[in-house]
Amino acid sequence: MDIEHVLENGNCHQCGTCVGVCPTDAISIAQHPQKGMYPVFERESCTDCDLCYVTCPGEEFDWNGLQKDTFGLVPVDKDLGHVREFWSGYTEWLDIRQKGASGGIVSALLIAMLEKGQIDGAVVVKMDEEHPLQPKVYIARTREEVLAAQQSKYLPVPTAMILKQILKEEGRFAVVGLPCHLHGIRLAQQKMPRLKKRIVLLVGLICGFHPSFTNTTYLIRRAGVKNLDEIKEIRYRDQAWPGGFNVIKKDGSNNILHPVQEFFWAHAVFERERCATCTDAMAEFADIVCGDEWRGGGVPERPDFKDGWSYILTRTEVGSKVVDEMVRDGVLNVEPAARNMVKRGMLPTVNLKKKNAYAYIRIRKFLGLAVPEYHGLEPAKPLKFKNYVGAAIIMLVSTLFENNFINRLFLHVPTKFMSQYLRIMYKCLCDGDELENLKGQEYCESPEMQTVIRDNHKLITSFEVVEN
Ligand SMILES: Cc1cc2nc3c(=O)[nH]c(=O)nc-3n(C[C@H](O)[C@H](O)[C@H](O)COP(=O)(O)OP(=O)(O)OC[C@H]3O[C@@H](n4cnc5c(N)ncnc54)[C@H](O)[C@@H]3O)c2cc1C
Ligand code: SF4
Ligand code: SF4
Repeated sequence: MDIEHVLENGNCHQCGTCVGVCPTDAISIAQHPQKGMYPVFERESCTDCDLCYVTCPGEEFDWNGLQKDTFGLVPVDKDLGHVREFWSGYTEWLDIRQKGASGGIVSALLIAMLEKGQIDGAVVVKMDEEHPLQPKVYIARTREEVLAAQQSKYLPVPTAMILKQILKEEGRFAVVGLPCHLHGIRLAQQKMPRLKKRIVLLVGLICGFHPSFTNTTYLIRRAGVKNLDEIKEIRYRDQAWPGGFNVIKKDGSNNILHPVQEFFWAHAVFERERCATCTDAMAEFADIVCGDEWRGGGVPERPDFKDGWSYILTRTEVGSKVVDEMVRDGVLNVEPAARNMVKRGMLPTVNLKKKNAYAYIRIRKFLGLAVPEYHGLEPAKPLKFKNYVGAAIIMLVSTLFENNFINRLFLHVPTKFMSQYLRIMYKCLCDGDELENLKGQEYCESPEMQTVIRDNHKLITSFEVVEN
């Protein structure tokens, strides 16, 4: 088996680890029109050292083995993984909080660690100024460089390719990544002690749906922008929480989509193949985990929820120490969160990984297609027939939406109709009172929330809200 096999079989996370560890530069990253940033393997430069394959989390991933190696145990909580502390909070630095995805915790703690000399650099990702539709992974060394990477980017990002630079440079680094990025980095740390010494903190982002690159071009069209050359910048979660998709043109105008429902359903219909077989929503290999503070039964009932709140989970002693110190220093404001509350808020996302991913894997196996090998990992809960129905729908819809003709047909279908897809998905994912979470979705679509969003968009000087 080699990396070519992973790429051909649809088992690639696009995490970038193979690019980062290859000593002969036989693997590079190129922009694929639908997949986005995707590895390219050149056999002539390969020396068969196998480093890429043994650190690749795409095809073979010994989940429980790596949990034992990382935390010294296999966690009892199969939904949330090994957790030391649960918090809800945000950064006290208001500007950073308001400009962040959900409370600015990630950027604030990186800045604080840099300024205290605890790290020499932080691996983050921004949209490339020269190629506005491409992500750029880099090591930030100043406050400004960290802030340039604020907010979530919903397109494939090969974060772990930065390992190449970290292998060459002395120093202590923090890395921000999605669960699959961290899988690759933990595996690389196992094989390469230099990386274990240099990467001192892994900050994981909770990850439910991750769309393919087609989602980005589709949303741009849906926002009414036809010519990609006119684009100066795209922001996926612009303005107050939860934010909306904004295409900023070179002439300075903003084409902002009616948010929330747009990015929710679009993420779901463009879900990448490998994401549908991924079993990690809660960044189970991170030191610190951050994600939007969704609550079962609705969005947070807090007067300042528009400024952003995050769940913060610590998984290691290092992670706990960093959060404690940042709270003591007044960088973060946190309150304890109950395990059950986090679980309730995150249930659709967690179920997607802990139920539907297994159903999806079984359907692929049945169809004779390649599947990832998790070495005996089992679903956290018994699968029901409706989980298979949900997985089959995801498979069908995401395949259809990758077709340009089909997704163009849906370009003008009203959001209200499209977001029904999510309702169907949730119903396939959740049981009984777990469906309380649908109220959160309803709240996002309520006139009250829409007013909040509209008022919020009036803050932008030149804007056009696209009605779908
Ligand atoms: C693809 C994706 C899916 C997500 N899914 C969920 C979800 O289902 N549920 C949930 O609760 N939360 C989810 N999140 C996490 C959430 O959107 C926020 O990133 C998180 O709450 C941190 O917010 P913040 O304000 O503290 O971060 P900020 O201070 O805004 O900083 C954001 C940081 O994230 C990094 N980053 C942004 N995009 C990426 C990317 N694609 N890959 C690697 N690093 C990136 C940036 O470099 C930056 O350091 C997702 C994030 C992403 C990127
Ligand atoms: S290491 Fe990551 S990017 Fe490379 S083949 Fe494996 S999953 Fe894909
Ligand atoms: S769903 Fe899983 S594979 Fe997909 S981006 Fe998120 S962590 Fe990676």
